[in-house]
Amino acid sequence: MTPLDNKLPEKINRLGELAYNLWWSWTPEARSLWKRLDYPLWRQTRHNPVQMLQEISDVRLQDAARDSAFLRRYTKVMLQFDDMMANGHSWFHTTYPDLTQNVIAYFSFEFGLHNSLPIYSGGLGILSGDHIKESSDLGLPFVGVGFMYPQGYFRQRIPSHGWQEAVYQQLDMNQAPIQPVKDDQGEDIKVSVNISGRPVHARIWKINVGRNALYLMDTDVDENEPWDRELSARLYSGDSETRIRQEMMLGLGGVRVLRALGLSPTVWHMNEGHSSFLLLECIRELVAQGNSFEEAAALVRSRTVFTTHTPVPAGHDVFSYQLVEKYFQGFWDRMGISREHFLSLGAHNEPWGQAFNMTVLALNMSGQANGVSKLHGRISREMWQEVWPDKPVEEVPIISITNGIHIPTWIASELGDEFTKYLGPDWLEHRDDPTLWQRLADMSDKDLWLVHLELKRKMMRHLKDLVRRNWVDGRADPTQVLTGGTLLDPDTLTIGFARRFATYKRATLIFRDLQRLQRILLDVHRPVQIIFAGKAHPADEPGKALIQEIYNLSKHNQLGGRIAFIEDYNMHMARYLTQGVDVWLNNPIRPREASGTSGMKAALNGVPNLSVLDGWWVEGYNGANGWVVGNDHDFENEADRDNFDANSIYQILEDEIVPLYYSRDRDGVPRGWAEVMRESIRSNAPYFSAQRMVKEYTSEMYIKAMNDGA
Ligand SMILES: *Cc1c(COP(=O)(O)O)cnc(C)c1O
Repeated sequence: MTPLDNKLPEKINRLGELAYNLWWSWTPEARSLWKRLDYPLWRQTRHNPVQMLQEISDVRLQDAARDSAFLRRYTKVMLQFDDMMANGHSWFHTTYPDLTQNVIAYFSFEFGLHNSLPIYSGGLGILSGDHIKESSDLGLPFVGVGFMYPQGYFRQRIPSHGWQEAVYQQLDMNQAPIQPVKDDQGEDIKVSVNISGRPVHARIWKINVGRNALYLMDTDVDENEPWDRELSARLYSGDSETRIRQEMMLGLGGVRVLRALGLSPTVWHMNEGHSSFLLLECIRELVAQGNSFEEAAALVRSRTVFTTHTPVPAGHDVFSYQLVEKYFQGFWDRMGISREHFLSLGAHNEPWGQAFNMTVLALNMSGQANGVSKLHGRISREMWQEVWPDKPVEEVPIISITNGIHIPTWIASELGDEFTKYLGPDWLEHRDDPTLWQRLADMSDKDLWLVHLELKRKMMRHLKDLVRRNWVDGRADPTQVLTGGTLLDPDTLTIGFARRFATYKRATLIFRDLQRLQRILLDVHRPVQIIFAGKAHPADEPGKALIQEIYNLSKHNQLGGRIAFIEDYNMHMARYLTQGVDVWLNNPIRPREASGTSGMKAALNGVPNLSVLDGWWVEGYNGANGWVVGNDHDFENEADRDNFDANSIYQILEDEIVPLYYSRDRDGVPRGWAEVMRESIRSNAPYFSAQRMVKEYTSEMYIKAMNDGA
């Protein structure tokens, strides 16, 4: 049952069910069903079927229920939906028929599922979203736990002075694809956690992600004090006191959510250290059942899996002992240990003294741990060797499982249709199989190029449309019309650079030698343009300064309108950019990018990468599928390193990328370029798919936990 069912005509009365399952968002037939139902409304609601069905006119619904073409499509989609939900033929069920009774619980601070749910900020959230979608596709017995932030992550506005502004909007919970979880009496199910002397309550929202459920806590309930109601208002805002309270809610509250629903996971996966407190709650439960701390810890260890996501020390949550004592006073008694023992579980030497580190807690207490690329695995073993002082670095038990992307979410549907022609109608089933992708050799340069041009034009239309809407609404001044991409030209070689504006990502590197860049951009015969997008964390002043610098450069007439800055980077924009530009640029300081995933999205869509040999690209680059910025040396001196890398970008552009891109045959097809595009897809798509990734988590980690923890 959904709140929409009463409104729907009998013949299409399962549309509500479809709207409340995000499966539609990665299923082309279901997406086009919404478009057919009411295209203007589809656009107006920014692809939100729940809102659409609330606002759609009865006349339109009646028309659809009488339209035999629509009904045929509807029936087909619902059959597909039922088949998906029925589960029987899934990979997990056929590969591990004896293990289907298990439950894998996956905890994350953020989930990037769809634009209508702004509960993600960047790569970590997108990865969680892709992980849960892929787990559904593969049939894993999987459940997600996190927060439903009523104000989510901020929307970015760039006023004409270029200093990013953060706009928080209250999400209308009724218009989101979420439903409150209720008990048999129809009452909201709630959990509570004692946080510094008083209980903080949360209600639970459920999101259907294919076969899987995602349960999200929300502390905005009547029973809470005003200060506690705000606890889950926003993602990543607030001081470390807010953060520790949020993490208590996630870790302790999250376990209680699952218990309240009657679930007993046999695998607990902590996606990043934000949820490490769940380890303590699981131990407390077992001690309350009569186990000693040692017995409880051993059991918990056997069932827990931890993924670390960053080699940047500041990216790991750390709390002062004072704060931890304030909030966990007495909790250690219930775990059967002393205060000192408790604090030692997360003890770490920070630059400012000993403190409680959430990554150290997770590494100490969980049975299995991994980094998110081979290089990041190695760096993590070095970084955290101190947790295993008697082991040499190479024996530190942190393995690596390289990230991947959920292909159905990130593939352009136009290109997906081509793949269906060349790879076969069931290519999506076998998307992690490299031999399947060999068949791309049959796809002609011309076909590949024409689809790409279509996607490039589509992206540019979209960018210009956004500017037009702002202009019409009176929200843009004339300079913003220029910086927003109106001067972009579909025939010009286009570089995309979009990501979080953290300083180590060096967004301004390409501006290091302005004159040389100017020559490249403004070449009369072979011009180049660059599209930038990305948010800086609201508290990251240096990050905001970088945005302002690029924003001002994009206004600079000497750069000829060949630089655009697009505001409010999000999943929707990420799709357009990674599908529509010609080259994807990434130049972080090596080795600080643990993996990166936007480059994988680009590669999948035939957009070759020009990237530093960091994160995933160390594994992805094969000499023929893109280009490498700099080399794999590490520099002592920052200026030397930046000069070397900037120079490398210019040189590759001048000597390789620009000439190859503009060399066309008689049909106007850049054959050499199309060859790189094809190789980019063929070599990267199967390996950097979340399908490969989730299978690897299963075989390398989940199965072990299921067997050991049983
Ligand atoms: C894919 C994606 C990211 C992650 O990108 P990287 O810079 O490669 O880590 C961040 N934000 C959004 C909106 C994305 O879609």
